[in-house]
Amino acid sequence: MPADRNFKIVTRLFGVQNSNRIDVAMANGAYKRLPTAFAMQPQALVDEVKKSNLRGRGGAGFPTGMKWGFIPKGADTVYLVCNADESEPGTCKDRELLFWDPHLLVEGMIIASYALGCKHAYIYIRGEMIREAAVLQKAVDEAYAKGFLGKEHQTALGPYKVDLTVHRGAGAYICGEETALLNSLEGKRGWPRLKPPFPAVKGLFGKPTIVNNVETLMNIPFIVENGGQKFADVGTGKSGGTRILCMSGHLKKPGVFELPIGITFRQVIDEVCGGTHSGKRVKAVIPGGSSMPPLDPSELDVPIEFDALMNDPRIKPVQYKPGHNFELAPGKPLRAMAGSGGIVVMDEDTDIVAVCARIMRFYAHESCGQCTPCREGTGWMSKICTRLADGYGQPGDVDLLSSIAYGIAGNTICPLGEAAAWPMMGFITKFRPDFEARLAQSRGLPPAGYHGAHP
Ligand code: SF4
Repeated sequence: MPADRNFKIVTRLFGVQNSNRIDVAMANGAYKRLPTAFAMQPQALVDEVKKSNLRGRGGAGFPTGMKWGFIPKGADTVYLVCNADESEPGTCKDRELLFWDPHLLVEGMIIASYALGCKHAYIYIRGEMIREAAVLQKAVDEAYAKGFLGKEHQTALGPYKVDLTVHRGAGAYICGEETALLNSLEGKRGWPRLKPPFPAVKGLFGKPTIVNNVETLMNIPFIVENGGQKFADVGTGKSGGTRILCMSGHLKKPGVFELPIGITFRQVIDEVCGGTHSGKRVKAVIPGGSSMPPLDPSELDVPIEFDALMNDPRIKPVQYKPGHNFELAPGKPLRAMAGSGGIVVMDEDTDIVAVCARIMRFYAHESCGQCTPCREGTGWMSKICTRLADGYGQPGDVDLLSSIAYGIAGNTICPLGEAAAWPMMGFITKFRPDFEARLAQSRGLPPAGYHGAHP
């Protein structure tokens, strides 16, 4: 049952003056859930998070309690790492959360660390977030000064203390992938690792590690205070709580909004964001960051919920060639995904081929180059899509783009390959006439010196 649109869990302090100062945060309830958490057994906290149906807000939507449950029993050293390396195009929620309410994150991490048996936690924050890194470091320093970090607490298990380190990244998109992030945190090149082993078994410095997103961890204090069931009831289906949506593109009122998880795309676009700024029809919507297949206007009545976007038959399956669905598993076609909450709305004047070219250029640039299908394939898609957008498409280019995308998906070490392949196949599936029309207008071979650099 979708909650009241004004019900807030993690954005309560947005707009409150000096909300990131510890005195203001504490006056608004920060750290008051710690005694409740410390009175519980760690396993009881994990069970409460399982009951809450909290799902990872970084993109994959994996159940958080289940992930916590993967830590091997009796592990001597466990790490908790907060992934604050937000960089998916269209997504800008974590930086707002970090700025307005860093103490909610610190409190969530203290509770999560206790539940997992972690004595030293890390926050890996994107290098470009200079303002947020400074705010966060100050919040951590304040939490140390008040004794929430670095000093022993009395708990159901006896004395317990946790340390927290803020680590700034250097601005690579791939370091948002959890194993690349761990390599970077260890001081190595930010290359994704082959899985298995998964980080919960062998992660940071070879020890069991849980990597959770900023928004995910900021929901933990609410679950401790109100119980997992209340959090589950706020959400819908198997997705508990609220969702932060980053609304951008051709909207009258873009912004970052915390909303009930079952709200539909059409409701958010029309009722929350006031429709398109041009007043024109919506042509396409990126549903959860640029790595997701797009939606067309007939698919906007689907709730913005993890399972609905993957399974709702109102969303057409993505095809790798006409009449052939791309399947995630036998009989399970790829439709769309809720991803990181970055929703980009495009009105009917949008040049879809140029949009694709821009997206492909991003992924080609950000590929770490470790595996061939991604390293070569993203570059090929970027070049071909760009020449098509520039009016130099060659016969067969549209099918060639689909074919390259199909060759990448499922054949790479990390999901960056799919992040490029899925939108490529998705845009062609739903907007093929735009690609064909651009091809029909081709001016032939590009002139000498053409490099295909599309803005
Ligand atoms: Fe690197 Fe791309 Fe392979 Fe990921 S898929 S490991 S980004 S080359």
